[in-house]
Amino acid sequence: MNGLMMNQQLTLASIVEHAERVNGSAEIVSVTAENPRHRYTYREAFSRSRQLADAMSHWGLQQGDRIATLAWNDYRHFETYYASACSGYVCHTINPRLFPEQLVYIINHAEDRFVFLDPDFLPLVEGLAAQCPTVRGWVVMASESHMPATELPNAICYESLVASGSADFQWPPLDENAACALCYTSGTTGNPKGVLYSHRSTMLHAYATMMPDALAISRADVVLPIVPMFHVNAWGNPYSCPMAGAKLVFPGNKMGDGETLCALINEEKVTLSAGVPTVWLGVLAHLKASGQRVDSLRQIVVGGAACPLSIMEEFDGYGVEARVGWGMTEMSPLGTVNASASQRDSYSDEAFAKIRLKGGRPIFGVQMKIVDDAGEELPWDGESFGSLLVRGPWVCSSYFKLEGSGAHAREAGWFETGDVATIDPDGFMAITDRTKDVIKSGGEWISSIEVENVATDHPKVAEAAVIGHYHPKWSERPLLIVVRGPQGQDLTAEDMLQWFDGKIAKWWTPEAVEFVDELPHTATGKIQKVALREMFKGYTFSS
Ligand code: AMP
Repeated sequence: MNGLMMNQQLTLASIVEHAERVNGSAEIVSVTAENPRHRYTYREAFSRSRQLADAMSHWGLQQGDRIATLAWNDYRHFETYYASACSGYVCHTINPRLFPEQLVYIINHAEDRFVFLDPDFLPLVEGLAAQCPTVRGWVVMASESHMPATELPNAICYESLVASGSADFQWPPLDENAACALCYTSGTTGNPKGVLYSHRSTMLHAYATMMPDALAISRADVVLPIVPMFHVNAWGNPYSCPMAGAKLVFPGNKMGDGETLCALINEEKVTLSAGVPTVWLGVLAHLKASGQRVDSLRQIVVGGAACPLSIMEEFDGYGVEARVGWGMTEMSPLGTVNASASQRDSYSDEAFAKIRLKGGRPIFGVQMKIVDDAGEELPWDGESFGSLLVRGPWVCSSYFKLEGSGAHAREAGWFETGDVATIDPDGFMAITDRTKDVIKSGGEWISSIEVENVATDHPKVAEAAVIGHYHPKWSERPLLIVVRGPQGQDLTAEDMLQWFDGKIAKWWTPEAVEFVDELPHTATGKIQKVALREMFKGYTFSS
């Protein structure tokens, strides 16, 4: 027998309708190139989203068509999220930090029909537009008076587009399982893979992130997402904040600027923020240098990479609780949050210093287990470590246009995270290692394989390997290890680093180069990264 409750579809349009009626006067403040503090209300934001959607409805798009964005965190990006997804299109957020060849690959693989871009990215996009045949128009996110001259074919001014639409636009009814957003993640092997979120998965994830032991978002909060909207939908903040009625503060392209972030926190009375460890190092450096405080801030969530204890302890001194969050693009992204500080009194100082470093406990909705190499489940004893598998309504079941792509490599119905972890009897998960070899610098992936490919192209190099190595600012930076070829006796580290110029993104260039006589190999001839990491365990980058 079925229950007799209404079968209301969980779609993003319901957030718009709720926020317009219930949270309409809450503010959204943005830093943009045109205005250091653009401010308006949710009601105005969603009215403009409807105008934008109406304008887009004349483009002859089909439901499910991809609308890409190459944009910072700001109000126009927020409007585009909702205008595209609530119209039944898929908002494909692209990471502008990717190398142009990857951008071309992603735009073509996603078959993006229109691309919305911040003027900052015009030089990048002008160079690749000719290689993107599916794109019918490029929307430059600027006002008419700030619209830059561009060689882009069919360049459209964002504000003119919005002005051409009606705010009376009504959202079409959608199935909750329809796709709403797409985000590519770059792995160790081959090309980036697309994670395709549904309205339902996004809604359930947003609900879950609001819970007290997760991000704890309420109407009383002022939320500053320093996690990019182009990387897993800024951890769901653009959805959860209008649900809760929390004020949103968008940092625009100032995500790496400690001074602006501290000014935003203090001027806008930010209570809650989320970002990768690198961001918090910048904020702390500014606080120390300026003697400022951040008294409104009650909590930050640090994720994307392991958080050093020093960050948490320094924030203790400012009266800010630093919570670790763990997740991944394939998990929308949130899997666990560490809210152990809320039970601080139940731990000794020593135990607390240990427990707070862990990834945290799974939020309701995420199931997890650890397995050994044979796939046998391991105990939750805090010591046994194995491959971490997860499942839940906001976990990816397979990648976009890559059916059978191995999301379920180990066991049907479970997603293999690629992380190695322990889980203790209370459910605290701790990442101990990564089964993948990609490197994570400042929260962003660097593909070791691509860097190695460029390095081994050098005529004086016999063999090369790249490993991620601890860096105090970026969490991890690539360290290149080279075996010189027969003609390479005079090859220097400087020669090697210059070789990367123009061949890969600048920030992918190795931090340092070390030379060895030979690299450790497996029986099948593969370089043993684990052994290499062990060899360079005590290494320190000079900068
Ligand atoms: P992404 O899909 O780019 O968000 O990256 C997800 C990966 O980042 C995870 O599989 C982990 O390897 C790593 N990661 C995320 N959060 C944490 C954390 N709190 N501690 C350690 N590694 C993390």
